[in-house]
Amino acid sequence: MIVLKSKAEVAKIAAAGAIVADCLDMLAAAVEPGVKTNRLDRLAEAFVRDRGGEPTFLGYRGFPASICASPNDVVVHGIPGVHAVREGDILSIDAGVTLDGYVADSALTVAVGAIDAQARRLMDVTQASLEAAIGQCRVGHRLGDVSHAVQMVVEKAGFSVVRSLVGHGVGREMHEDPQIPNFGEAGRGPRLEEGMVFALEPMVNVGGWDVFVADDGWTIHTSDSSLSAHFEHTVAVSEAGPQVLTRRRSEKAA
Ligand code: MG
Ligand code: MG
Repeated sequence: MIVLKSKAEVAKIAAAGAIVADCLDMLAAAVEPGVKTNRLDRLAEAFVRDRGGEPTFLGYRGFPASICASPNDVVVHGIPGVHAVREGDILSIDAGVTLDGYVADSALTVAVGAIDAQARRLMDVTQASLEAAIGQCRVGHRLGDVSHAVQMVVEKAGFSVVRSLVGHGVGREMHEDPQIPNFGEAGRGPRLEEGMVFALEPMVNVGGWDVFVADDGWTIHTSDSSLSAHFEHTVAVSEAGPQVLTRRRSEKAA
């Protein structure tokens, strides 16, 4: 069942979302060659707590950190650790914040120093596919329109959409109904209504869409070791159009 949120609830998710957005901007600015992902994790936890929030991921089903840090061929759910990123890497960072009982969830992929043209294009296409999905979050559209929008952008660019991982409803819990695949048929699925709040999160691979879970039980890699990017926003459906609740200041400026 898709739980609809009142305007007051959407405002609370937006307050959590503002912390997520600023946290991700802070982390993106801290990424440089040689930075260890556990340093980013400590920065994130301190930032979120300082703003009065709780890092939603910490302890979630036993997850040991406040962010996911997923370099290169890691799609999502990378555990921060002593791994240092290197010039030319890409790094996906995912963060969730709980504030006053409400949750927002967002992610981005950042370049570590100078990256090659294909990595840049992968990031740009993934971000564009997220924006296409956001554009479909309108009252009366269908969930399949959102999924289809991602798939079209990604496959037109010659990349592939991860099939086994999905976006989700969000707000009172981190993961709520519905599941939101990043592929699908337009015109199918539930009709979108005012008060639905979604975490839209295309995960896009340069190579094939197949992935596997590492022995740590969390880290998800591309099966062909190709690069993967991940962008995510928490978005409310409203009569006024899509409301992005995790928009970063760096995006507004861009
Ligand atoms: Mg996330
Ligand atoms: Mg999510």
